[in-house]
Amino acid sequence: MHYFSTNRRSPHASFRDAVLNGQPDDKGLYFPSEIVSLTHDFLDELHDSANEKIAFDVIRPYVGGEIPDDELFEICRQTVDFDFPLVELTDSISALELFHGPTLAFKDVGARFMSRCLRYFAAQRKQKTVVLVATSGDTGGAVAAGFHGVEGVEVVILYPSGKVSNVQELQLTTLGGNVTTLELHGTFDDCQAIVKRALADDEIRSRHHVTSANSINIARWLPQQFYYFYAIKQWSGRPPVISVPSGNFGNLASGILAHISGLPVKKFIAACNANDVVPRFIRTASYEPRPSVATISNAMDVGAPSNFVRILEIFEHDFPFLINKLEADSISDETTAATMREVYAQCNYILDPHGAVGYRALADHIERHPDEKGIFLETAHPVKFDSVNEIIGTAGEVPAQVADLLTKQKQSTPVENDYDEVRKVLLSKL
Ligand SMILES: *Cc1c(COP(=O)(O)O)cnc(C)c1O
Repeated sequence: MHYFSTNRRSPHASFRDAVLNGQPDDKGLYFPSEIVSLTHDFLDELHDSANEKIAFDVIRPYVGGEIPDDELFEICRQTVDFDFPLVELTDSISALELFHGPTLAFKDVGARFMSRCLRYFAAQRKQKTVVLVATSGDTGGAVAAGFHGVEGVEVVILYPSGKVSNVQELQLTTLGGNVTTLELHGTFDDCQAIVKRALADDEIRSRHHVTSANSINIARWLPQQFYYFYAIKQWSGRPPVISVPSGNFGNLASGILAHISGLPVKKFIAACNANDVVPRFIRTASYEPRPSVATISNAMDVGAPSNFVRILEIFEHDFPFLINKLEADSISDETTAATMREVYAQCNYILDPHGAVGYRALADHIERHPDEKGIFLETAHPVKFDSVNEIIGTAGEVPAQVADLLTKQKQSTPVENDYDEVRKVLLSKL
């Protein structure tokens, strides 16, 4: 197994080099040379298999022997060391809850797997590895928690001051140790621009191995297949339709990859908010990125989804093949909020705004196809978003992870939106 760049100008990379590089120099995305076909035995035994065993079997061919089996099994065991329950809300709609990890969002899975791979690879190198991340909320928390205490790795997180929720901010700023958090007076886009410059900064690069932990890294992307298998493990009956709340499209691309490998799924729905580049593409076959617009499902406010190219790659750039398997829908904030109220009233279930987009797109699909049943991904816990309380009047029971956070003290370094200032702070901290 090797990884090629979707732009096809950079050289092929092994799993290890693709993980350490993050992104090929030609600015494409790494993509596996082969999509694995899972055996009938594996799929037949899914219902009785342990989650860590499923994870190991799914990821092993992609790692291609670059992490020894016993080590890889342990990485998988630690990565999926929490629950992934499938909860039935109506006769035809179930929620796959992906928020039982340490930072209450699906990104925990990819971040935990990637941090443990990097720990393994960093142990073989002399240089310290520095992971730089810009976050609009969920990514930073998952990455900080995933890498906290990992030897040989320093993490620096940039977040836009005042633009993440209270819970998200505490998740970013209370770990300490090898996690440094910079609170930038600017927007998420400013944070991202500074991270990009720092990743290309010769002086920083000459001192350390610097990499990013954003969702384009294959060590975050590939393990997101795991929980699609856990969904089917808990499912009985004909293959479900799966609706995925989508922003950068990494999560959806992982699910489709699992399906091409043999996982039985009737169809996927790309559930989007007002950022509707992909729904437009499905309608018109023309892909036109545009600036993002702000919504209440803000983790999905992406106008140029970076992982979409992986979806094209999986479908071999064959549009009829793609639309046979993939539908897309765009849900407004008003409809999202109305859905949250409706599902709370009718099912006594609290959706977060991202899950609500997934629910609505699925419910609308099933209204058009009443003989089908489906699953939507509940991508984060409602307590992470201040809007849930405003819309429903409660965000439900406070999970232990959050109760614990609320007792802690925020530690962050305020910085201006100025590359030279951030650079100075970076060089002094590392
Ligand atoms: C990141 C995120 C998404 C979007 O996932 P992509 O892989 O970027 O499409 C959806 N919901 C929540 C809660 C997220 O944090």
